[in-house]
Amino acid sequence: MNYFPVFFDLTGQKVLIVGGGEVALRKISLLERTGALITVVAPYITPELLDRAAAGKLNLVNREFSPDDLHGARLVIVATSRRAVNRWIASLSESRNIPVNVVDDLEASRFIVPAIIDRDPVLVAVSTGGSSPVLARRLRERLEAFIPARIGELASWLRALRESTRRKLRDTGERRRFFEAVVDGPAARRFIDGDNQGATRIARRLLATTAAAPRAAGEVTLVGAGPGDPELLTLKGLRALQDADVILHDRLVPSAVLDLARRDAARICVGKAAGNIGSTQQEINALLIEHANQGKRVVRLKGGDPFVFGRGGEELQALAAARINFSVVPGITAALGAAAYAGIPLTHREHAHSVTFVTGHGQGHGPEPDWRALAMPGATAVFYMGLARLDHIVERLLEHGAEPVRPAGIIAQGTTPNQRVITATLATIRDVSSGANLESPALLIVGEVVALHSTLAWFGAAAEADLSQTA
Ligand code: SAH
Repeated sequence: MNYFPVFFDLTGQKVLIVGGGEVALRKISLLERTGALITVVAPYITPELLDRAAAGKLNLVNREFSPDDLHGARLVIVATSRRAVNRWIASLSESRNIPVNVVDDLEASRFIVPAIIDRDPVLVAVSTGGSSPVLARRLRERLEAFIPARIGELASWLRALRESTRRKLRDTGERRRFFEAVVDGPAARRFIDGDNQGATRIARRLLATTAAAPRAAGEVTLVGAGPGDPELLTLKGLRALQDADVILHDRLVPSAVLDLARRDAARICVGKAAGNIGSTQQEINALLIEHANQGKRVVRLKGGDPFVFGRGGEELQALAAARINFSVVPGITAALGAAAYAGIPLTHREHAHSVTFVTGHGQGHGPEPDWRALAMPGATAVFYMGLARLDHIVERLLEHGAEPVRPAGIIAQGTTPNQRVITATLATIRDVSSGANLESPALLIVGEVVALHSTLAWFGAAAEADLSQTA
């Protein structure tokens, strides 16, 4: 992050604008709303600026800039049409430690101005770090569309409510729960719809019940984070993350998904990937129980889906034994995500009538999979954690009657920008994969449908090929 986002209180502070054209005017219009003391220095000035000066809204200095103008300024905005002059003023400001922005000159600027949505006192600022003002504006437009017009009034109402609540609810956790119930529930909805009295009535009732209610019991939500692409998280999973007090997550969980969690939620990496390095299952169960017993909302976040080779079932059994409330939010499991992004339909009217998810890891510990069924034509088999045991899997399938020409493919880091797909046959997949240097996590898919990848690939490599053809 190159820029530190702040909101600067400029009430009564001197802000110097150098330049008196249209660009300066736009910045001034914004600054006027902040209560800053605006000084404009420029030899030529638009009539509109003259009007504002006459109305006493700003202090106009009708001449060329001189270094003394910087005296006492808390911020400087430079918007003359001469680049060299702009840069000179910028370096003078820098040497006096006054933050400076040069309009349309990122390099010479100490601070930059975001695109904003102003619903006073709510202010949403969007920045691309100067990379693309157009992109920032588009983002702003999208946000505009779903931020209610009355959000500013809502914020002021909540502020007033906060003061009256402080005496009744002493515990900060309780206060937060109360406000979540207000903001997420009918009270805020009423307010947004314009029914201030109805909203206040609901909030009062809620306050009375929250103050009288015993301390909330903790709970655990098992959430599937999806296979990699953070946008494959479900809406329900997102909500659970934003409500969580504590998040226990695996190493496989994409960091972009963790970034979506409530900022002040505690995050604990229990470092469990395939192979079970890191915390043991007992330690994880104990942590879940301990936090829930403290009354916290705990999210147990797992890669893919929690019930597909995620040991989610075992964790719930431990919670059930400890009498802790739990719920489960499914996720897109790696087989579904990776197959979709690789253009490999797992079933197909002509090529596959069943699909089986198999662990490549558990053999020797649990029952052997039904190799004969997996080797049958028309059955798709997806092996999780299978890369290290590729030899074993291929041999068993061939032994149990699979054709050596049966298509087989490996998808590594599926749904991420680093996704790689290799396809071959059962006879050749070992050689092809050992030459390919694939990085985990990876899935092995065996079945006729793998051959469809060559025509249905759309993500990554295939798109690149298309671009090169049109170039
Ligand atoms: N619960 C998870 C699976 C955990 S087991 C789920 O539902 O997806 C871990 C195995 O999942 C890895 O060894 C690998 O085989 C597979 N896997 C997870 N993410 C993957 C990805 N992005 N691409 C390919 N395989 C992945």
